[in-house]
Amino acid sequence: MDVVIVGAGQAGAALAAKLRALNHGGAVTLIGEEDSPPYQRPPLSKAYLMGTMAEDRLWLRAPGFWAENAITLRLGQRVDAIDRAARQVVIGEERIPYDALVLTTGASPRRLPDAIGGGLEGVFCVRSLADVDRMRPAFRAGARLLVVGGGYIGLEAAAVASKLGLGVVLIEAAPRILGRVAAAETADHIRALHRAHGVEIIEGTGLERLLGETRVTGARLADGREIAADFVVVGVGVQPGDGLAVAAGLALDNGIATDAFGRTSDPAIWAAGDCASFPWRGGRIRLESVGNAIDQAEAVAANLCGANRPYAAKPWFWSDQYDLKLQIAGLNCGYDRVVTRGGAAPSFWYYRGAELLAVDSMGDARAYMVGKRLIEAGKSPDPDLVATAPDLKALL
Ligand code: FAD
Repeated sequence: MDVVIVGAGQAGAALAAKLRALNHGGAVTLIGEEDSPPYQRPPLSKAYLMGTMAEDRLWLRAPGFWAENAITLRLGQRVDAIDRAARQVVIGEERIPYDALVLTTGASPRRLPDAIGGGLEGVFCVRSLADVDRMRPAFRAGARLLVVGGGYIGLEAAAVASKLGLGVVLIEAAPRILGRVAAAETADHIRALHRAHGVEIIEGTGLERLLGETRVTGARLADGREIAADFVVVGVGVQPGDGLAVAAGLALDNGIATDAFGRTSDPAIWAAGDCASFPWRGGRIRLESVGNAIDQAEAVAANLCGANRPYAAKPWFWSDQYDLKLQIAGLNCGYDRVVTRGGAAPSFWYYRGAELLAVDSMGDARAYMVGKRLIEAGKSPDPDLVATAPDLKALL
């Protein structure tokens, strides 16, 4: 069985490697539109942006890995279409046949419309290595950065900029930062951290437009305030990379819809990573994280090799800001209560009724580890114990 994988990012690379680890004997072709070999994105808004991590440390595998494992890596090539009837993918004039096709096309950042200045010079988004290489020279001490969007990527960029001595203003249209992903307790902790480092955070105020003729010079906010800026980083979320699937008529539902095994509505086509939504607790979910990209891709690889095993997601995530390592286990969707375990490195525990859903740890590695193990085991400790137990490990 010949497998073609479209998208040579975190999920695509994990999938190709896992197929070989499982002794898949057919051809494996991994096609990516970026010129770089498969790389990890998290450092792009952290150590790589800061300048403390070299480019070659981003590569997911040593350069020789692909050829050594008989994986045909085709970089700098964009797949234009899928011909489902012929079981081929199309790149320009070329057609590449497949027995099984996997879409690991990731996601692309939402951009600000040109009508409000999104196309001005000096306006950057943060998704690819090329994006970051373009914007990194602007991170000079003394420069003024405006970050649009108070999600993890915007906050990480703000932290790096502040550490490098830039003046940073971050604006968030929603009532508070991290509104989509975390509780107010976590947002309060992160906001205080940024303010202590001199970052100005403005919440509940939208952007009216970016200002400037050809190059951005600042922004006018919805309340009429004007902010001067030398450049702008936009972190306002992503759209799943479902363009090929849309054109091919595959079922969609917040991304490419798969069943529990990773298969799309076409049995010969599978999907994994940021582009794919899958069944979760009676509904569907699409996750944007390294852990999910790897685990889901490896589950698809196993199923391509005949495992016939549903994907059991074990969500986890992290973010580095200043010296804080924020770690998250579980998914907080549907929480009705947040329990605080206080201290210098607090953690916030999300419950729905008596059920523990997720933990956000502000630098307490033990809280993260214990929370993750509890959630994965389906155990829900008494919230009062979580808040007060001298040793969390006793909860296990
Ligand atoms: P990607 O890694 O995006 O790979 C998809 C690839 O497919 C891309 O290279 C794209 O160019 C290619 N592609 C798309 N369409 C085509 C086509 N038609 N033909 C050929 N190639 C195509 N997650 C965490 O868990 N922790 C973090 O701290 C964290 N930090 C992050 C920081 C940044 C700046 C970013 C951008 C992401 C971060 N993430 C983090 C998220 C994580 O990187 C993603 O969830 C992960 O990369 C998803 O893997 P993927 O393979 O699905 O998509």
